[in-house]
Amino acid sequence: MQSQARCKCRSGFSSTQEVQVCKQCGDDDHESGLAEPSRRALLKAAGTGLAAAPLFGAMSASAQTRPVSPAVGAGPFPTRAWSANSATAPFSPFSVQRRAVGAKDVVIDVLYCGICHSDIHTVHGDWGAPNYPVVPGHEIVGRVVAVGSAVKKFRVGDVAGVGCMVDSCGECENCLADREQNCLKGTTFTYDAPDKVSGGVTYGGYSERIVVTEHFAIRIPPGMDLAATAPLLCAGITTFSPMQHWRLQSGQRVGVIGMGGLGHVAVKLAVARRAEVTVLTTSPSKIADARRMGAREAVLWSDADAMKRLAGHFDLLISTVPVSYRMQPFFELLKLDGTLVNVGALGTLSEADLSGMAMGFGRKSLSGSMIGGIAETQEVIDYCAARNIAADVELIQPNQISQAFERVVNKGVRYRFVIDFASTKRSV
Ligand SMILES: [Zn+2]
Ligand SMILES: [Zn+2]
Repeated sequence: MQSQARCKCRSGFSSTQEVQVCKQCGDDDHESGLAEPSRRALLKAAGTGLAAAPLFGAMSASAQTRPVSPAVGAGPFPTRAWSANSATAPFSPFSVQRRAVGAKDVVIDVLYCGICHSDIHTVHGDWGAPNYPVVPGHEIVGRVVAVGSAVKKFRVGDVAGVGCMVDSCGECENCLADREQNCLKGTTFTYDAPDKVSGGVTYGGYSERIVVTEHFAIRIPPGMDLAATAPLLCAGITTFSPMQHWRLQSGQRVGVIGMGGLGHVAVKLAVARRAEVTVLTTSPSKIADARRMGAREAVLWSDADAMKRLAGHFDLLISTVPVSYRMQPFFELLKLDGTLVNVGALGTLSEADLSGMAMGFGRKSLSGSMIGGIAETQEVIDYCAARNIAADVELIQPNQISQAFERVVNKGVRYRFVIDFASTKRSV
């Protein structure tokens, strides 16, 4: 959208963004005559499932700081959430207090939230005793409904995402290197983590609203399918980051071990890089899907002939399996100097059973990677927006979370459940 308007610094507005912000001064102050949209209009627009940034593109600066709901004011406010109260109890409605909106905070009306296997691990206590009630959810996409006075990155009406973390110290060497996930003073994860601001624990995206400092919110470009974008906030960055770090190049051979929520996104991202992709799965029914997503081939772990044929084949293996398993058969598939990156199993790798001799003989590496920094998360979202990459999702209602957990554990989802809060709000 071209603009004739000028900002205060007179440098002009970006002509590439539908939301017009001056590249030089960040100003959006211009005369348009458009009024702030009503709450109903905002929700109606949000309910389309597509970004509607142009509707809000010309909002005045004063309108941006005005809360759109009496519930979002100077103090903490309640929001409806769905929590697990034990490892086995079904999810039930719960009310959490969101913090008062600080100067750098944004309030996000959650529209979609993916169900990640980490949510299940946490609720089941696989990684240590959880702080029940747990409100999981770290694949969040929603509409910004209020912003603090010092917020620069967002305005009311923008679409924003929140991934796996909501805070870090911002000062340590890792934070300064855009690796907030490795903060030396402790990353604050999106749920079931000590909340340095409130003093309690964090509550995630299985809720209607979330308050987060703008640095930890991701801009979602206009035109993306919001439900199918939500899983990119965890599954996307988790598989994109190792491809960046190990510099996966066009023509290189990459194997994706396990094809669930993370694995199917890994296939799409690796195919986009023109790598030669092979899926290694336990599910015969996923072979056709892997090919449809662009994999050169998909083989079963139990296919001894294929495993023998692929010996010494791969530059990089990305393991998305969420539990420990025998890794040595896959180490055999690596070339000299190849690396197997584990991104799925964060518990003890008790079943790995690796041969030190084989590892040394082939100078092979076992490594790990966990999500990615905020800048890299924005990068993967922009990368996917430019290439029309999104997750394959199945929408559910909040009252179906418990059944969805069971189906994920039983490998019965193709390929990510996403909780649809937008449809319930559409009828508001
Ligand atoms: Zn996750
Ligand atoms: Zn830090």
